[in-house]
Amino acid sequence: MAVHNFNAGPAVLPRAVLERAQAELLDYKGRGMSILEMSHRSKEYEAVNGSAESRFKALLGLGDDYRVLFMQGGASGQFALLALNFLAPGAVADYVLTGSWGEKAVEEAKRVGQANVAATTAEGGFRAVPALADLRLSDQPAYVHITSNETIQGVQWASLPDLGEVPLVADMSSDILSRPFDATKFALIYAGAQKNIGPAGVTAVLIRQSFLERARAGQPAIFSYKTYAKNNSLYNTPPVFAVYMLDLVLGWIEGLGGLPAMAERNARKAALVYGAIDRSGGFYRGHAEPASRSQMNVTFRLPAEALEKQFVAEAQAQGMVGLAGHRSVGGIRASIYNALEEESCATLVAFMDEFVRKNG
Ligand SMILES: *Cc1c(COP(=O)(O)O)cnc(C)c1O
Repeated sequence: MAVHNFNAGPAVLPRAVLERAQAELLDYKGRGMSILEMSHRSKEYEAVNGSAESRFKALLGLGDDYRVLFMQGGASGQFALLALNFLAPGAVADYVLTGSWGEKAVEEAKRVGQANVAATTAEGGFRAVPALADLRLSDQPAYVHITSNETIQGVQWASLPDLGEVPLVADMSSDILSRPFDATKFALIYAGAQKNIGPAGVTAVLIRQSFLERARAGQPAIFSYKTYAKNNSLYNTPPVFAVYMLDLVLGWIEGLGGLPAMAERNARKAALVYGAIDRSGGFYRGHAEPASRSQMNVTFRLPAEALEKQFVAEAQAQGMVGLAGHRSVGGIRASIYNALEEESCATLVAFMDEFVRKNG
């Protein structure tokens, strides 16, 4: 029996996508073998690669001035690659920290060059995003890095900043394609697929051509964005099955009506769960300030750790899995990504209401 899957990542995938992959597994398009077993130079795989790139661009309304690259090494790999490619000696990159992933990103940049924390909400325990007026940007930063959704704290930029000519870079690993936004405001966006758009193993990178041209020469080929762009992400063997799954998920998003439909679906789900927090009379305490609440990762505490343990165990017994908060912050985290059905949120909310009645 299928569970209600609140895992933070790898995370729930659309059932229709899993069924399609299952149906195609033993015989991909009449080739008598699976996509896992054929060359990445085959016309079948090239079609998958091309489809994933063009679907990505269509969903975000991007034109020929952007490239979509499929890479490996996860978002953590991007923390390093971004700095290796764009943080030249003598230059400074600015980082806006709204949670644990941004902290990791700036640590990596500091191994490569000079990185400045332009704003951080660490002091308040990462409960909010800063006001734009509070960013202390360097003179001509190489780029400014934000984390659009902090997966661990459950803190999301409700509207994304626009920094004009300054190259804006975002780690969107846990909210990419969850809502419409103006992607043309970004020089580079990266996202590990395993939260919101596919399985682990592939990292999607969207990069503006004019920014790509600024990438530093002299990197090992495999660490250079230019290598991936020049070779359509086929410089070496790509994670073929992960890209195939990603393409199916993008097709599923298209089929539901694209990003406006995703945003509506996600807003309905988030409103359900935050509603249960807000009517609990203080029993559930949301971690994020209301204006910075994540629509993807709902984080909250109960009055005592013992109650949190009991909450996770009882939920699990009722078929709701993945609700324990990240080991670094504790509490409860319900990850309610694109693929999670509204029914799963409704089931969780009924359980939450009942848990307050019994234990509040
Ligand atoms: C999960 C996550 C990461 C790390 O991703 P890996 O693919 O494990 O390297 C980085 N940033 C954000 C926002 C994440 O949610």
